[in-house]
Amino acid sequence: MIYLDNNATTRVDPLVVEEMLPFLSEWYGNPSSGYRFGQRVGQALELARERVARLLGCEVSEIIFTSCGTESTNAAIHSALMMDRDRQHIVTSRVEHSATLKHCETLAKRGHEITWLSVDQHGQIDLEELDRSIRADTALVTLMAANNETGVLFPIDQISEIVRKKGVLFHTDAVQAVGKIPIALGDSKINFLSLSGHKLHCPKGVGVLYVNRKTKFAPYLIGGSQESGKRAGTQNVAGIVALGKGCELALAGIESEGSLLWSLRDTFERELLARIPGSEVNGAGSPRLPNTTNISFSGIDSEGALMLLDQHHLCCSSGSACTSGSVHASHVLKAMGFSEERARSSLRFSFSRLNTADEVDAALEIIPKVIEKLRRISPKSPAN
Ligand code: PLP
Repeated sequence: MIYLDNNATTRVDPLVVEEMLPFLSEWYGNPSSGYRFGQRVGQALELARERVARLLGCEVSEIIFTSCGTESTNAAIHSALMMDRDRQHIVTSRVEHSATLKHCETLAKRGHEITWLSVDQHGQIDLEELDRSIRADTALVTLMAANNETGVLFPIDQISEIVRKKGVLFHTDAVQAVGKIPIALGDSKINFLSLSGHKLHCPKGVGVLYVNRKTKFAPYLIGGSQESGKRAGTQNVAGIVALGKGCELALAGIESEGSLLWSLRDTFERELLARIPGSEVNGAGSPRLPNTTNISFSGIDSEGALMLLDQHHLCCSSGSACTSGSVHASHVLKAMGFSEERARSSLRFSFSRLNTADEVDAALEIIPKVIEKLRRISPKSPAN
């Protein structure tokens, strides 16, 4: 199998598995228990917190463990809205992941005003429009650091400066960015940041919400006093230990991994464009994650391509994994102004450090044949 869908999820690193296994067997204590057996587990949690904090360049007290990126994002939005009854307006963009998008749509149905920033053909928001959209009653600006479908990066530092100047809270969904590009929260103006373990070669079901130590926080899950009272519920110890190890590995490899990903992705992209006429990279005009490419192939239907590629044991994606299976064309590509047809003819390929140059070579053999076959049989093809 050639797995080029690492933005959907990643393979758990064997070193991560090794680190977490004892916490599924002998170290099963509750980290909140007072006796030494529980405390030993609590210490493992705190080591994981230190490792996550080191990757993000923040303090350990600013890390809250959650169950996933979606929970972290929801918790940040919830907290911002709980702070001040007179501030109930949210600013976000049209290209967010459904964790933000659907939540904001639900809030809109409940009467909250949402400003949806549009993006240009490169997938970028207009910073002046952002500036203008922040109001006296704005509770939160929430914008993603890296787009899961195109890899397009938003200028998060500039955005956070603009938001801070207006005295408003800023959350960034950094689920796709963490571990792929350096993040330094130390002096940043970011109030909340979300990440997810399973995009970082860790298991599913663990995430983090960073909350700046000066930012007031209202918990989303209410109950026990775990996570300093900021997120109730007995922690997923094995998952958190795994995430700590995953963050340690990500930090150690951030530069070498970044250049490996650039080289795999760029070779793949360059060769594919050269071999397949009528192919174009979506978002190429923007700074992008090193691991992601989203390419449209004129005259094909991406759902058909996915099926044929699957027969060749090649995994990639059309739109985000969370919405594939639905009949809608990618909301991200449509927001970038691409036609329904172009959006429906696009595939996302995303790499990780566990991919190899041989896999790229093999994929470069398979994909052109699949596209050619689809064009031959497609009723939309100019030849038919
Ligand atoms: N945000 C982005 C940008 C994502 O890509 C994803 C997952 O695909 C999420 C949020 C949700 O993360 P999780 O699957 O951990 O809930």
